[in-house]
Amino acid sequence: MSTLERSAGTRIPEGETFPLIFERSREGRRAWSLPEVGVDAPSLDELIPADQRRAAPPRLPEVSELDLVRHYTRLSQRNWAIDVGAYPLGSCTMKYNPKVAEDAAAMPGFSRLHPMADDDLAQGALELLGTLEKALCNATGMARLTLQPAAGAQGELTGLLIMRAHHKKQKSERRRVIIPDSAHGTNPASVSLAGWKAEEVRSDDRGLVDLEALEKALDDDVAGIMLTNPNTLGLFERDIVEIGRMVHEIGGLLYYDGANFNSIVGLCRPGDMGFDIVHMNLHKTFATPHGGGGPGSGPLAVSDRLEKFLPKPVLSWDEGAERWFWDDDRPDSIGRIHSFFGNFGINVRAYTYLRSLGPEGLKSVAEHAVLNANYLRVLISEAFPTAYPGTCMHEFVATAKPLKKFGVKGMDVAKRLIDLGYHPPTVYFPLVVEEALMVEPTETESKETIDGLAAALNQIAHEAETDPDLLHNAPVTTPSRRPNEAEAARHLKVRWTPE
Ligand SMILES: *Cc1c(COP(=O)(O)O)cnc(C)c1O
Repeated sequence: MSTLERSAGTRIPEGETFPLIFERSREGRRAWSLPEVGVDAPSLDELIPADQRRAAPPRLPEVSELDLVRHYTRLSQRNWAIDVGAYPLGSCTMKYNPKVAEDAAAMPGFSRLHPMADDDLAQGALELLGTLEKALCNATGMARLTLQPAAGAQGELTGLLIMRAHHKKQKSERRRVIIPDSAHGTNPASVSLAGWKAEEVRSDDRGLVDLEALEKALDDDVAGIMLTNPNTLGLFERDIVEIGRMVHEIGGLLYYDGANFNSIVGLCRPGDMGFDIVHMNLHKTFATPHGGGGPGSGPLAVSDRLEKFLPKPVLSWDEGAERWFWDDDRPDSIGRIHSFFGNFGINVRAYTYLRSLGPEGLKSVAEHAVLNANYLRVLISEAFPTAYPGTCMHEFVATAKPLKKFGVKGMDVAKRLIDLGYHPPTVYFPLVVEEALMVEPTETESKETIDGLAAALNQIAHEAETDPDLLHNAPVTTPSRRPNEAEAARHLKVRWTPE
């Protein structure tokens, strides 16, 4: 059975074209109609003044409801999703999102609450945000946080702006932020956006920060360091306490990129490791849906000495009046970084996830994430050895280098995996590993699924030897094969023009 048959239950005929919804449009066709209302309705002029209305109606597709449903249902079947099969995309933590969190987020009291509602009409929602903040501060060992950032990358920028505000308050001019060579691309990008210069330090032969290189890089021009722990190689930075001491000694701050928090959540805390600023990706660790550009949530937590710089308003509890309110009276705040209060619906999902697991459940998330990764690592280690020896955390970076002698690359392995019914792992990242395959099975996959994934990867290694062309041509079961990855970014085409 092909991937598509298996995933979607619908065979998409080879070579089938897929028109845009605009191309399905037929003039005058409507999705639904209702009889005229039997009561006087206000005129359009009464509702929206003429000078605030558009001159011509928008050019929307005119389709029947059935056309509409089929179009989007079939489009959705052409996509891979966590609800379809395993998604071992390293660094991204594509875990299963329990439906109970969806139910909570869809409750009318949450989903229909207007963001401009008066605080007094939204006490339940504010209590949820306040409780979520407390739970996340407990889990990270930090003092306070903001729920405004919409993703990890925006959390990074927020954290670096706070780092800036801190040094400015100390009247200390600094220009550089240290980043290990295994770091995620958003780290140096955020440093540049914040007006600083990113300086790379190399990893040593353990795959960890090279302490000698770090020592050389540190001086009073360094504002801080950004670290992911465990790092993107899936390895725990064992020297973190020493690194913290070194960076604090020159007056720098430690930034924790929480994208890999899934591997330690409930077991240990970045605050206890010495970090001053921490972002979390709720859409990774706390099981809210992600992919395709969002929405996400990247709360940014700080230690008590940095609290005054947090974006405003800050959610506060008025003891006397026994009510939650938004505190705007924050003279040192870096200001707003998102409209309203962040992606509220995503925060409701994360809250529900946390409450449904409890502290013990959260701990078992990390334990099973690490167990699953190590189980898979060993099952495929002969064909795809890891770049660095030893036990991994929640993910590992293997290499497809042994297949090079058959003319097969990491990208071929990834593409062939699609034919065999699995989403590929992250490839060619981190940059420090040749032909990198970065695999993160997550804790939500069963032993049977991981066994199947391992069997598929081992089969591919065998095919590389016996039939390399099969891999060069993969995938063969998908509607689109090997799109040019740079083309869409270089020549963005978002407008459809009718003939
Ligand atoms: C995902 C990720 C980020 C960025 O987070 P987004 O929520 O995608 O913006 C940063 N660092 C690492 C290591 C990541 O895996």
